[in-house]
Amino acid sequence: MPLEPGRTVRELRELQALTGDDEGAQRVAWTPTWVRARAWLEEQLSELPVAVEVDEAGNQWFTLRGRSDRALLIGGHIDSVPNGGWLDGCLNVVAAVEVLRRIAEEGTPAVTVRLVNWADEEGARFGRSLFGSSAAAGSMADQDELRELTDRDGVPLPDALGEHGVELDRALEAHSQLESAAAYLELHIEQGPVLEALELPLGAVLGTFGVERHRITWRGQAAHAGSTPMAERRDALAGAAKLALELREIAKRVGGGAVLTSGGVVTQPGIVTSVVETAEQLLDLRHLDADKLASMWEQVREACERFATEERLEVETEQIWQIDPILFDPHLIDLCEESIREVAGESHRLPSGPLHDAAEISRAGVPTVMLFVQSLRGLSHTKLEDTRHEHLELAVQALDRLASKAIAWVSDGGGRA
Ligand SMILES: [Zn+2]
Repeated sequence: MPLEPGRTVRELRELQALTGDDEGAQRVAWTPTWVRARAWLEEQLSELPVAVEVDEAGNQWFTLRGRSDRALLIGGHIDSVPNGGWLDGCLNVVAAVEVLRRIAEEGTPAVTVRLVNWADEEGARFGRSLFGSSAAAGSMADQDELRELTDRDGVPLPDALGEHGVELDRALEAHSQLESAAAYLELHIEQGPVLEALELPLGAVLGTFGVERHRITWRGQAAHAGSTPMAERRDALAGAAKLALELREIAKRVGGGAVLTSGGVVTQPGIVTSVVETAEQLLDLRHLDADKLASMWEQVREACERFATEERLEVETEQIWQIDPILFDPHLIDLCEESIREVAGESHRLPSGPLHDAAEISRAGVPTVMLFVQSLRGLSHTKLEDTRHEHLELAVQALDRLASKAIAWVSDGGGRA
């Protein structure tokens, strides 16, 4: 059957009706609703000559055998956050079903094509994102911590996984699924405002931002709000406040899409009658360029020293988490842009702020690219998440073109050997 992009939109609405409620999508991983969504996905593919399997990490694979065993992977995640949107994650899975139908209709493809539905991308129940893809990528290194995680009701993660046939100790065996992977494609809603501001439906993604997260602790002196003259104060909040505003200047100086966020400040004693003694400030720094990211952190540290001197404070910094930027494959980015131009005229290259399963697969050495479709108002992880129907249809068409180009590339010896 020829590609029918409108069917993808209808199927997404069907999935929404089956697994959502008035508050939004409820396909939280390792829950009965998620299981229903996975069974629904299997049904959509039941007419096609695909082999179905679930790997050791709970990822669901649909394999259309080609003339070569080398495989093009098209991935997404059908799990959602609680009260989530109708497109995050499942758009790619459902669009890929349509692409697989078109490819299967044309006979045996030159290379094997595999649709993968990653398990627990969102980490909504246990707070650990990218579960299935990090297991397959081989980068899951926190199994000891995972063993200790519990959900809000106190259910341990290993028990919840066990109910779904997944043994935490064996999850990394899912890595064998990537042995034949030559290239990886993922379509996703942008979840940000960039494409909408440019009035473009689609964009090719350059990679995912590197992230630095730090805790900055400012220490001053608690003092009575009435009796302490302004000039005598050692106000820890003043350091945090100056830094919060300085982040804008650092972003301007570094440029290239730099984003810095002071996402939380907790003050002690935190009462209306006292100058702040300690302010604990959380920072998140992101850039696609590793050197620029390092420079951002360097500038934050210099600013901390300067403001500590100005305000007569002590300051301490502690790294909470970091991940390097992950750059997608230059050739696949070109093919993605070509595909976008063919269906929508103009393309745009942009980085991804959020992490995605694609970042894990790219890290594992599989040439990867993502295709973004515009999000209305930049909203996601809410039932207000939306994308115009005509843009969704263009996204299915662009993914289809991209899949064809990637199959040809892999068949000519491109991609990972
Ligand atoms: Zn997602």
